Amino acid sequence: METTRCNLCGSDDYRLLYTLQDLHFRIDDRRFDYVQCRRCGLVYQNPRLTSDEIGRYYPSEYECYQVVESGRQTSWLKRRLIDFGFNKRWKTVLRYKPGGTLLDVGCATGNFLFHMHGKPGWVLKGLEVSAEAAGLARSRGLDVTVGTLEESIFAGGEFDAITLWDVLEHLHDPARALNEIHRLLKGDGILVFRVPNLDSWDYRLFKQNWHGFETPRHLYVFTLATLKPLLERAGFRILHAGSEYGSYMTVVLDVRFWMAARGYSRAAIERAARVLYHPALRVIFSPIASLLGGNLKGPSLTIVAAKQPLAAN
Ligand SMILES: [Zn+2]
Repeated sequence: METTRCNLCGSDDYRLLYTLQDLHFRIDDRRFDYVQCRRCGLVYQNPRLTSDEIGRYYPSEYECYQVVESGRQTSWLKRRLIDFGFNKRWKTVLRYKPGGTLLDVGCATGNFLFHMHGKPGWVLKGLEVSAEAAGLARSRGLDVTVGTLEESIFAGGEFDAITLWDVLEHLHDPARALNEIHRLLKGDGILVFRVPNLDSWDYRLFKQNWHGFETPRHLYVFTLATLKPLLERAGFRILHAGSEYGSYMTVVLDVRFWMAARGYSRAAIERAARVLYHPALRVIFSPIASLLGGNLKGPSLTIVAAKQPLAAN
């Protein structure tokens, strides 16, 4: 374990928010503290597992490491929903960048890249810390490098767009990651990412069982108010902030965590999840989710930010 200072303002003055355990995989019963910086309001885990220790909390059954199939064995409705989700992400990128070279950081098995494979005008690359996940991505014909942003693998100014889907909250040093992304982007490059939104209706409803505290894997829990200065300090200007995407699946996670906290067995949670993951329920719930997600209060925040020249020191 290690202690850390606020990643946004550097202060070590904080208040304890919650002491939580792994409600997702229940790897063990260890408890982890989420604190809130008294100076800037950033919520983060402190103390926390080091990058060497945290690996055992990422089991291979982790959803992000699953290959999302939309082949013939998948039902028509499920295929449509999968494509719908990835197309929304893709359209967000396209709205601000019509083509170029894209790097998906934390691409896992390459689900996002695979769905965008072959789009005209784009060269797609991935960066993934898990060699196993990256291997699966490569077996799908994707150009994926094993490594982290900290390792500075790519040349500066190489990318037109960099995406991070549900990744920034997992990193030990988001500020440093953003600095590296700034270096990697071309002068007019864009950054597109999604994170859980602490300032959301489902956090208000589920509190300490909210999916955004994906203990101990989520080291940070952001709001637009904490992301904005973090981005500005790294040399980015927000072009778009929305919370309209990715509602339903995250609310199913909320329900799973809530059941786990109440002592339901793993089998009971899986049974409930199977019902809730049914595509028909997703279709019914989606309009309600978009209504609730208006006004930036949805479960996730999607941000598009433009690289700005860094102020001379
Ligand atoms: Zn702070």
